[in-house]
Amino acid sequence: MAGTESPEVLVAEEVRKRYSDEGPWAVDGVSLALRRGEVVSIVGPNGAGKSTLIQMMLGLLVPDSGSVRIFGTEMATGRRNVAHRINYASTDLSLPYSLTVRENLTAYALIYNMRNIGSLIDRLLREMDLDSFRDVRVGSLSTGQVARMGIAKALINDPELLFLDEPTATLDPEVSAQLRTTLQTMVRERGMTLLYTSHNMREVERFSDRVYLMNGGRLVAEGSVPDLMTRFATEDLESLFLQMVGREWGRDE
Ligand code: ADP
Repeated sequence: MAGTESPEVLVAEEVRKRYSDEGPWAVDGVSLALRRGEVVSIVGPNGAGKSTLIQMMLGLLVPDSGSVRIFGTEMATGRRNVAHRINYASTDLSLPYSLTVRENLTAYALIYNMRNIGSLIDRLLREMDLDSFRDVRVGSLSTGQVARMGIAKALINDPELLFLDEPTATLDPEVSAQLRTTLQTMVRERGMTLLYTSHNMREVERFSDRVYLMNGGRLVAEGSVPDLMTRFATEDLESLFLQMVGREWGRDE
């Protein structure tokens, strides 16, 4: 890893995207920066534009205007140069369902050219509580097990920057807590940066260094949870979320 790189691992500037020529903006002028070793969440109602924004950050969707740079590389054009340093998991994961959990992870480890694949996979299976399912076909797993499998896959290349779109939506409380511990260790010990979305406000409060509130395609507030509570005179993030949605922050009308 280059020690001379800027502390900002991701910089988005005035990113815009709509899905049709005359349609509404799904993402409407978003600028943000992520620093190395931060846990940052994006919170907003369904349709706020979170997934569209993450897809553009990953270089999977091309912005209509604006730019996203990761490790200094423009994602719309240079995604391949940084793909080995980032990873992503979401709830709409599609995996080769006829392969077992271990076969799937082995395939991804080979794609990323990882070393010591056996011990890497053993560790990930332990961390994601999937050890006893290693030889089970992915098609036979429960929703929560598939989600854990998706996160194991997202960790396979030891990413420096990880995007998780609603990682704990289908997980039970115990597994969610275990996942947070695993991710916190990766952040602390390896300086990983994590950007994630969640509708679990308690989780966001406990887990995030900073939060972006998103509504109507725009970022409408940003700060640490205590900062936001003070600034908006609210007791918790859920009250702030309801304020944001109720008052239609970020929407023009
Ligand atoms: P969120 O992740 O916050 O729920 P999305 O990014 O999925 O928000 O959606 C933002 C807006 O873009 C919504 O109005 C949604 O209906 C629209 N949208 C998302 N994906 C598509 C798509 N593939 N085609 C057309 N519209 C889309």
